[in-house]
Amino acid sequence: MRVYNFSAGPAVLPEEVLKRAADEMLEYGDSGQSVMEMSHRSKEYEAIIKDCETRLREIMQIPDNYKVLFLQGGASMQFAMVPLNLMKKGKADFVVTGQWATKAYKEAARFGEAVMVASSKDKTFSYIPELDKSKFSKDADYFHICMNNTIYGTRFSEFPDTGDVPLVADMSSCILSEPIDVSKFGLIYAGAQKNMGPAGLTVVIAREDLITEFPSDSKTPTMLQYKTHSDNDSMFNTPPTYSIYILKLVLEWIKSQGGLSVMKEINEKKAAVLYNFLDESKMFKATVFGKDRSLMNVPFVTGNDELDAKFVKETKAAGFINLKGHRSVGGMRASIYNAMPIEGVEKLVAFMKEFESVNS
Ligand SMILES: *Cc1c(COP(=O)(O)O)cnc(C)c1O
Repeated sequence: MRVYNFSAGPAVLPEEVLKRAADEMLEYGDSGQSVMEMSHRSKEYEAIIKDCETRLREIMQIPDNYKVLFLQGGASMQFAMVPLNLMKKGKADFVVTGQWATKAYKEAARFGEAVMVASSKDKTFSYIPELDKSKFSKDADYFHICMNNTIYGTRFSEFPDTGDVPLVADMSSCILSEPIDVSKFGLIYAGAQKNMGPAGLTVVIAREDLITEFPSDSKTPTMLQYKTHSDNDSMFNTPPTYSIYILKLVLEWIKSQGGLSVMKEINEKKAAVLYNFLDESKMFKATVFGKDRSLMNVPFVTGNDELDAKFVKETKAAGFINLKGHRSVGGMRASIYNAMPIEGVEKLVAFMKEFESVNS
């Protein structure tokens, strides 16, 4: 029996996608082979990766002057690739809103000057700090944010106006959860294993003018240059073929649901079911308030470690898994990505109500 999986990532995938992948596991179309077994240079596979890119462009309305790259190494690799490729003058601004944003900031500091323009560390990253534009570096190569903070359950509900400085966003845990205006960004990156598909694939969407050539004597590894992948349509070496195929199926599923504006509506509805309960419960409390609340990751606590542990144990036995909070926040966290059906959240809330009445 399938459980309701609230994992932060790798995370739940749409059942329709998994069934379709199962149907096509032994033989994709009339190719006589599994997608996993295909040469990435074959006609069949070329059609898959092209279709995946076309669908992503259509669903996210990616302008023509942006490249889509299918890479590996996770979002964590982008913490280095972004400065390696974009830090031409040697400076970048960072809003430090959590652990991932901190990692991006620290990694960039290996390559140039990383300026922390704001941080919410003083309150365990439970909010998005107000940004003072006068603190932005006019001469920065880029301005980095982590749009949705997977661990702390906060998100940017509006984006900083960085003028001519390209805005770079880690969207690992919120990409495809709502429509966004790609043209506001210089570069977007996301590890696939939260809201796009299986682990192993990292999607980069970069404005063409930011993808530049390195000098031939550059020590920057060929594989870490965006240009390498851009010039070769993500086929410089073997791309993560199966993960790209699953992303294609996920994109087909999103389209069948009505696209990103419908995804957003459903996600808001799902999040409201949980937040509304947390706001009225006497036992469970959300750790984030107001407009900074994430639609994707919802941390909550009882304030009592033993009770938290009991809750996590009992949810698991009842078929709700991966609700234990990140060790840095404690308590619980429900990740409710696109593929989590609203029934999953409603049933969890019903369970929480019952738990509260039995244990108080
Ligand atoms: C999960 C996550 C990462 C790390 O992703 P990897 O693919 O494991 O490197 C980075 N940023 C955010 C926002 C994440 O949610």
